[in-house]
Amino acid sequence: MASGRQIRVGPVPVGGGAPVAVQSMTCTRTGDVAATLAQVRALVDAGCEIVRISVPTAAEVAAFARVVREAPALVPGGPPVPIVADIHYDWRLALAAIEAGAAGVRINPGTMADKHVHEIVRAAAAARVSAGPGLPEAPVAIRIGVNAGSLPRDLRERATRDAPGALVEAASRWAGQFEAWGYTDYKLSVKSSSVPDTIAAYRRLADRSAAPLHVGVTEAGTVWSGTIKSAVGIGALLADGIGDTLRVSLTGDPVEEVRVAWKILAALGLRRRGPDIISCPTCGRTEVDVVHLAEEVERRLGSDPALAGSAITVAVMGCRVNGPEEARHADYGIAAGAGEGVLFDHGERVGTLPEGQLVDALLALIRGDR
Ligand code: SF4
Repeated sequence: MASGRQIRVGPVPVGGGAPVAVQSMTCTRTGDVAATLAQVRALVDAGCEIVRISVPTAAEVAAFARVVREAPALVPGGPPVPIVADIHYDWRLALAAIEAGAAGVRINPGTMADKHVHEIVRAAAAARVSAGPGLPEAPVAIRIGVNAGSLPRDLRERATRDAPGALVEAASRWAGQFEAWGYTDYKLSVKSSSVPDTIAAYRRLADRSAAPLHVGVTEAGTVWSGTIKSAVGIGALLADGIGDTLRVSLTGDPVEEVRVAWKILAALGLRRRGPDIISCPTCGRTEVDVVHLAEEVERRLGSDPALAGSAITVAVMGCRVNGPEEARHADYGIAAGAGEGVLFDHGERVGTLPEGQLVDALLALIRGDR
């Protein structure tokens, strides 16, 4: 079911069997170049592979161009992080973003005149974006992002009784139009703030189109509730093999979006980035403060630059019943007893320590200092 066609957003291959790419969006004022670059850097450090930036008016075009120019220096020696311009209504902003070196543009063609959408497609097809050392240049990618608020007149009535069907029909029409114009470097999105509608729309779209799909639940909510909605909606689609890029949309720090995205990918066994903590839910047998231990292990692994990106499994278990078995199967583990715990290194017991020393000893073990 995964999309058959591959495109590239700068250096990042999208679709056609490429790993599902993690995307997010800055929330700084685009005109504040220093703040935007700092946020791009934070997103990249967290594992964001495609960064989208709003270009709301012509006043932001120069700042956007500077961010595009300076972003490659954020990843010395690595491929440049592709910067995508988010454009609404004003087709000339899309042309300006392409001119400024955007790796992609996200448009909702329903908010523009057809002839202006055609101008954007022409400019994207003609432009070439650096994909980094050793890689051929790519055309500018376009995401056709349709939404319920800007459907063609004849689909509006249908949307009241079949919202997913109307979104899919609108996206499919635009995909057909882009191909009639000779342009295939596009991906599609049909996000909704309703999880069931999002799942239904993407399933139907995946049946109709071989184009790469960008998946997400839009306006999902705060970090807590948005994480749950995104995990359910995006997770259901990814489990079906649907989705080539994803964005978790949260009301909060976009770095959280990236962390959640990776957790969703890891939970499905699709990609791994960063430690996976296995910790027991605690019960009447718990003999140490497992909640504190697990949170401390997760916090310290996440804030250690040498370990934050490592794909290790760490078990933190609360008693002698299930603890040793889980801890033995993880890369590293703690199996607690009464006020103390046994440390495991790849299945081997390497020591028993008082509860207060367990986290330090575990971190030292993982770093190879023990
Ligand atoms: S590992 Fe032990 S303490 Fe933790 S939930 Fe299971 S039985 Fe309870």
